[in-house]
Amino acid sequence: MSALKHVLGISGGKDSAALAIYMKDKYPSLDLTYYFTDTGKELDETYQLIERLEGYLGKPIAKLESEDARKSGQDPFDYYYKVFRGYLPSSQARWCTKVMKIQPFEDFVGDAPTVSYVGIRGDEDREGYLSRKPNIQAIFPFRRNIWSEDVIKLVLDNGRIGQVAELYATELSGTQLDVVVQAVRKPIEHIANDRKGNARRQAEKLNRLLEHGVVPFNRIAFRMLKESTLPLGQEVDYALLENEDVLGKPAIFRLLEESGVGIPGYYDQKEFTVGDKKGTYARSRSGCYFCFFQQRIEWVWLYEQHPDLFAKAMKYENEDEGFTWAQGESLKDLIHPRRIEQIKAEALAKNKDKSSNRLLSILEETDERACLSCFL
Ligand code: SF4
Repeated sequence: MSALKHVLGISGGKDSAALAIYMKDKYPSLDLTYYFTDTGKELDETYQLIERLEGYLGKPIAKLESEDARKSGQDPFDYYYKVFRGYLPSSQARWCTKVMKIQPFEDFVGDAPTVSYVGIRGDEDREGYLSRKPNIQAIFPFRRNIWSEDVIKLVLDNGRIGQVAELYATELSGTQLDVVVQAVRKPIEHIANDRKGNARRQAEKLNRLLEHGVVPFNRIAFRMLKESTLPLGQEVDYALLENEDVLGKPAIFRLLEESGVGIPGYYDQKEFTVGDKKGTYARSRSGCYFCFFQQRIEWVWLYEQHPDLFAKAMKYENEDEGFTWAQGESLKDLIHPRRIEQIKAEALAKNKDKSSNRLLSILEETDERACLSCFL
């Protein structure tokens, strides 16, 4: 029996919850361990989602926090907030993700070879911030390309063109093989100091190969893993090699609704008025209620929908030291009536041209620095 661990992190957001449902339904033979890294500062809706999910999965979701925080008897965030002497985390100094998300996850996994399933959707184009431990391999079941960047680099390495062409000859035949081998034999042109261009050229080649068959590509990637130290390299077979599903946002919502787990409550659109106009707002994602990644309109949502939590968030700020959650603006200033009107008017204008009133999530606005442990 394989010693490989299969783990799936639940962030409290819709995509990781949907992935847990999808994996249970589609791959019941995979013995998945589910976990949630708790900061103690999530919205109640997140904890409720996790409870409903446990019911559906029929097993508990492990709640992870560091030993030090647990021993202190405080919420993990409050413990580390003191360790960092009141220095609030920010996108430039994101100690929160490191000590409350990544570290407890890595401690939980230890040195065991582990496959970590990540719910990045098929309609997204990002990798996100993940553990870089060599014994942890990420797999993305909702995407056409289930593999992480390191695997793609291995398969598309210009030095391995001949090997990949030979492997394709064991998977395909006839005209299909000729066409694919032609695509394989075209090297990726790497240009010094052109990171984005190089990534684009690699993605173009990958897409060309995937268009000629996801399953053959997966089988070849899997065979090439034997040359690497990545966890799946030690397996003789892997159920997801045959996976051709691509799940976008509508499919995610459908999975949540049809399973009965439901959509996290903070996505519910609430109406607001500004002048004679009406708009709607909602929280766009999971994470701590005071997360510095949130948009101004989400702060207004918190103030109006969860005033108790907003008041708690204010208490962490120290304007004299320049410690504010939102860059360049304290929460005290943000809730000035005229400022609230302005934020709402801006949100309305921003969403005017969109077919849906749903605010774009921060992640969908391409913030690649955001942590997948918090927001999926
Ligand atoms: S949700 Fe935001 S504040 Fe909370 S741990 Fe994640 S990045 Fe930090």
